[in-house]
Amino acid sequence: MDAIRQGNRVVLAQAITLAESQRAEDVMLAQRVITELLPQTGKSVRIGITGVPGVGKSTFIESFGKHLTAQKKKVAVLAVDPSSTKTRGSILGDKTRMENLAKDPNAFIRPSSTGSTLGGVADCTRETILLCEAAGFDVIIVETVGVGQSETAVRNMVDFFLLLMLAGAGDELQGIKKGIMEMADAVVITKADGENKKLADLARANYQHALHLLNVSSSGWTPKVSTSSALENRGVADVCTLIETYLETVKANGYFEATRKEQNQLWFHESLNSQLRRRIMQSKKMSTRLAQFESQIASEEILPSAAAQQIIEEFYRTSL
Ligand code: GDP
Repeated sequence: MDAIRQGNRVVLAQAITLAESQRAEDVMLAQRVITELLPQTGKSVRIGITGVPGVGKSTFIESFGKHLTAQKKKVAVLAVDPSSTKTRGSILGDKTRMENLAKDPNAFIRPSSTGSTLGGVADCTRETILLCEAAGFDVIIVETVGVGQSETAVRNMVDFFLLLMLAGAGDELQGIKKGIMEMADAVVITKADGENKKLADLARANYQHALHLLNVSSSGWTPKVSTSSALENRGVADVCTLIETYLETVKANGYFEATRKEQNQLWFHESLNSQLRRRIMQSKKMSTRLAQFESQIASEEILPSAAAQQIIEEFYRTSL
């Protein structure tokens, strides 16, 4: 425990691995460790960053992270990428990403956590955030690919949600769903350099207009749009200032605290869902029954919802 409080990265990484484990004993041990560390958590700024592959996330996070470490801040970058379980490789876990930041003694990069369900991944990412906070990280960046469901999960565990977008590609082309736009506290148009600069400025004005219409938030904050260029080393400082202003606003009006409390309640309910599911999936008896139900569903002998109800009832009976 003390090793984590002192910022020992090896022990921190071990604790995260424990939290990510599928084994019940590991999960319980991780929970005991985190519970003891709770008084040292909660003091970081939690930032979610999303955008489609190729938009420039790793490039942006790298310069954003370097900007923060230059101000003597400790930065942790975590990735949420549940799709990696399907491909057995990770879009976000690639070691060559953010090489410069990875070498920075004040940065900690944790590639994608693996999990069989989004709920499981979200659970352990939340625990990882707490572990990093106990280890003294001031800013925690949670990165996700903006094409799936993981954005909502990430939105529900961070204080500030940043969406990276390309100019001129069209929202649909980028696979960005309207809902994601509504979740954003800020949008950054990336690659605003060279011939793209004009397009980026135009997109900025358009998105700013669209966001004004979209978001009516109780946070007292109107989402902002800015542009950035990693090539010209521009835009990152603006985003930092923007986040500071946001934090001042929501801390003053109570929204920050209220949202964190709400997020904990949501975590509890999501966890209940994912743990119940995991318990059923891990039970040997149930795995045979699951397979039987799957084939019955395939041959249309049983209604899927009725099958789910039966599984739960059988599981309940066997665990009494
Ligand atoms: P990710 O998949 O979202 O993480 O995107 P990357 O950060 O890997 O960037 C994708 C590509 O865009 C790379 O070839 C980068 O060099 C390029 N790129 C990233 N940021 C910029 C930028 O600001 N300007 C230009 N011109 N290219 C960029």
